[in-house]
Amino acid sequence: MSEPSDRVELTIGERTFNTTRTTLQESRRLSNLLRLAEGPYYVDADPSLFEHVLRYLRTGLYPISHDAQTGHDEVFYHHLLSQARFYQIDKLETWLRGKEYHNAVRQRSCHISLTLHGPDQIEHLHEFVPGRNGNVSIVRGEHSQKECHVCPNKQWRHDGRKTDCLNSGCLTVKQARFSHSRMMEVVKVECIVTRVEVDQKRLMRSQQNEVLPPPYHETS
Ligand SMILES: [Zn+2]
Repeated sequence: MSEPSDRVELTIGERTFNTTRTTLQESRRLSNLLRLAEGPYYVDADPSLFEHVLRYLRTGLYPISHDAQTGHDEVFYHHLLSQARFYQIDKLETWLRGKEYHNAVRQRSCHISLTLHGPDQIEHLHEFVPGRNGNVSIVRGEHSQKECHVCPNKQWRHDGRKTDCLNSGCLTVKQARFSHSRMMEVVKVECIVTRVEVDQKRLMRSQQNEVLPPPYHETS
């Protein structure tokens, strides 16, 4: 816990931040300001970018701005790099300049085949992708009309999936012997699912100036 005197009120541009001297000490510029001047403290800089800087100082986690479809937000990193220089935060500057964020985020893709029964399932394709999260791109789709199982309770998610009806109690084992089916549109979809994984270890500020080994070669 911080001593009461450790608390500091710092105004950046048009916003005031409450933090501690301990949190700010990694920034040479801010710790010099606090050491050399009496409060209130004011720095004319961008408060929305300072938010990210302060989060880094508080948590020791490097900032990531990444989207599965568009990738890394290089403009954001560029602005943040200028802030790291401005506030004189060496580790953050080195990390951003070396584009280390590329090593902290990985995209994994896998190939998945799905069979969807009826228009409702086709419309809700994403629900049927295992794991659900991730970006789905369809490689191929094959339409046909087929006689398929229909849920007697009108749950379209069960259509073509008799075991789902059995597991949910729509049918007893005895009832399942009889046919509950009709012709419906069936689509076989081949898709690529891309998931984004963040390597938490690579996001953590190191205690010393140790250099992490190159990525993708961990032995654990
Ligand atoms: Zn059912």
